[in-house]
Amino acid sequence: MIKVSGLRKKFHDLQVLHDIELEVNKGEVVAIIGPSGSGKSTLLRCLNLLEVPEEGTVTIDDVAVNMRELAKKDMYRLRQKSAMVFQNYNLFKNKTALQNVIESLIVVKNMKEAEAKSIGERLLEQVGLSGKFDNYPSTLSGGQQQRVGIARALAVDPYVILFDEPTSALDPELVGEVLNVMRLLANKNTTMIIVTHEMSFAREVADKVIFMADGKIIETGGPEDIFSNPQNERTKRFLSQLS
Ligand code: ATP
Ligand code: MG
Repeated sequence: MIKVSGLRKKFHDLQVLHDIELEVNKGEVVAIIGPSGSGKSTLLRCLNLLEVPEEGTVTIDDVAVNMRELAKKDMYRLRQKSAMVFQNYNLFKNKTALQNVIESLIVVKNMKEAEAKSIGERLLEQVGLSGKFDNYPSTLSGGQQQRVGIARALAVDPYVILFDEPTSALDPELVGEVLNVMRLLANKNTTMIIVTHEMSFAREVADKVIFMADGKIIETGGPEDIFSNPQNERTKRFLSQLS
């Protein structure tokens, strides 16, 4: 299980996250929606300590970390529990698709190259990139690069995959292929937290939807609750502005 409690994050004088409480069960898909600047990315980044919150606890699986007494060893153990998929893919430009996927297996997990390669090839096949093992990112479309990003996240076999607007940098015709891969993962009960503007995808795939505004979780519920029957005025206003 993933549990976040009393999480607070400031940038200088700006309180960006206020007392965030969150629970995600193993195998669940959670979609986070909300206006620009509401703290969605910061929340994801706090879960794997790309940003370090001032206060609060984050538990992922068997690793529990209290931000007030954060030791290097705990940081490392918590980071190992998640993998992130970024809006702009963040691939190594001077490495092939396969090298991107297996990098962490070799560097972090000290795996032998042959073993890492066979895992990497299987994952690239899984995301529909069988013919692209040796392609450099510049020779792949945005949708293909993002699928490499997803394969790379899967490679470390994380407890949870954190997606930060994985399709928002893509041309519209490439969005579907990435969402299809994510749908596939959801059907295999991969635990995922997805910040997204793709409301119809969130509605279809998420077990739980979280609406954030001004650094707070305003409303949480099943997709039908949030999209068809929102309770909070902020949620109603946000959703009505989309259509
Ligand atoms: P978007 O939908 O535009 O991606 P978001 O919900 O992901 O927005 P965040 O990126 O988490 O929002 O930002 C929340 C607030 O924190 C914003 O006011 C933003 O300007 C501020 N912020 C984010 N990162 C930093 C940083 N590194 N330094 C200072 N302020 C930051
Ligand atoms: Mg963001």
